Amino acid sequence: MKNIFKLYNIFLLLLIIFFIGLTYIYQKEEASLRSSTLNKIKTQSEYINEYFYINKAFILSLKNTLESNLNIQDLIHPLFNNIKNKKDIGIYNIVCNDKSIKFTLNGIGSIDEIDLDTIQELNSVLYLNPLFRTILNSKHGIPWVYYSSVKNFIYIASSNNVWDKKFLKYLYTKEFWTEAIPKNNPKKKLILTKIYNDAAGKGYLTTLSLPIFYDNVFKGVLSIDISLNILNKMLNKIDLPGKVYLIKKDNSIIASNQIFKLNEKLKRNKETFSINLFDDNLKLLYIENKKDVIITILSNTFPVIMLLLFSLIIVCVLAHTIMLIKKIKEIANRDFLTSLLNRRAMMKEMSRQLSIANRYNQSTALLLVDIDFFKRVNDTYGHQVGDIAIQQISNVLSKNVRESDLVSRYGGEEFLILLYNTNIDDAYILAERIRKEIGNLKIKEIDFQITVSIGCTEYIKNESIDDFINRSDLLLYEAKEKGRNQTIKA
Ligand code: GH3
Ligand code: MG
Ligand code: MG
Repeated sequence: MKNIFKLYNIFLLLLIIFFIGLTYIYQKEEASLRSSTLNKIKTQSEYINEYFYINKAFILSLKNTLESNLNIQDLIHPLFNNIKNKKDIGIYNIVCNDKSIKFTLNGIGSIDEIDLDTIQELNSVLYLNPLFRTILNSKHGIPWVYYSSVKNFIYIASSNNVWDKKFLKYLYTKEFWTEAIPKNNPKKKLILTKIYNDAAGKGYLTTLSLPIFYDNVFKGVLSIDISLNILNKMLNKIDLPGKVYLIKKDNSIIASNQIFKLNEKLKRNKETFSINLFDDNLKLLYIENKKDVIITILSNTFPVIMLLLFSLIIVCVLAHTIMLIKKIKEIANRDFLTSLLNRRAMMKEMSRQLSIANRYNQSTALLLVDIDFFKRVNDTYGHQVGDIAIQQISNVLSKNVRESDLVSRYGGEEFLILLYNTNIDDAYILAERIRKEIGNLKIKEIDFQITVSIGCTEYIKNESIDDFINRSDLLLYEAKEKGRNQTIKA
């Protein structure tokens, strides 16, 4: 029972150590995961920021070129004379395939009827070709770059679509135009539209649109489309234990590593952290997912946890084995019926003690106790009652000696007692006390009184154990001879 309790304590201690270890590993991993997540998002946000700034730079260089072109008197582009009227669909148009890029100009009405200002604007716009090409070749995944004029023409790359009057009019209702025009953009700023579905089928887009003024007169809008796909890809590229959103100032989502509805506004109450981008016009927001964090940490620390668990199991098994060995040793040294030392253990202990007694000249006494007529007990009441008697007598013996003395079951109904620091006289007194106590012992199953005979002797320096025991045996024999129920000392 005591051992089981000890083992339980060790197990409990190991369990506590395991959980402390686990908490430590978890916390360390959580901190490192958080900082690596933050780093990943920072890196990605710099990339996204750059992406928007490059597009802004593109649009500003388009603006500058366009403004300079508008300043040049009577500017005529070689393609201008190739513009043809398409009366059947109510437009004038030119399509130019230049290397892999297609430039298209579609305008409502007839080229012959446009005013001088529009001619100047048209030619200035046609000279944007090289810049359009640079932008489309920049590998930024830009589907369209275009200029839409108040004068109802649109110059676009890369497209060879010929748009009729109705479609052109429809384009002027799309976000790239409506959100940028002075009525809705009084500060004449570069705007980023909400997400809308591309009229020409290139999927969901957001557009960077910049209104163009000349002599303080609103002329048109320069636009670069940014595909939602590209933005989503940028966010999906980073493997994170949580959700990441790119949102505009009004909290509308423009990209995420999650599925989101068109122009869905993000409820901002639980973000882990956020980074401002693109002159504070955009925000990259991260919302940690506890479940994903736990899964990531556990999968990252799995080998360490397993190693810890394995070492603890080994320690547990070792502790258990040590205790079992101790228990087995104890069982091997003890008599099964009485729990007293058995003969083998007694001989071992005696030889150890006698060598000490020899060295320090300590007097050591020996009592050999034998139950009288024990055969009669077995014969009368059976072996089981005999066992009970042996147990009760052994209790009397244990109770009467000091804890340091050795009491053993030497034979069937024979007990050998080694008494430390005890001379023959004191041993005799103890023997008599034991004999009398047994003589008065009431064993409920037995009607007659059980007695013992005792041989009592003292150790003679340097004699062998056998001689010492033999002498006690002879004295016991003498006690039996003299009528039993007595102690003979010598
Ligand atoms: P005495 O010593 O007085 O000469 O007579 P005795 O009858 O005690 O001596 P004997 O040596 O003839 O018999 C010893 C008996 O003790 C015989 C044996 O059956 C019994 N005995 C020995 N070990 C045990 C035991 O573990 N349990 C029981 N019930 N009896 C045992
Ligand atoms: Mg005997
Ligand atoms: Mg006997």
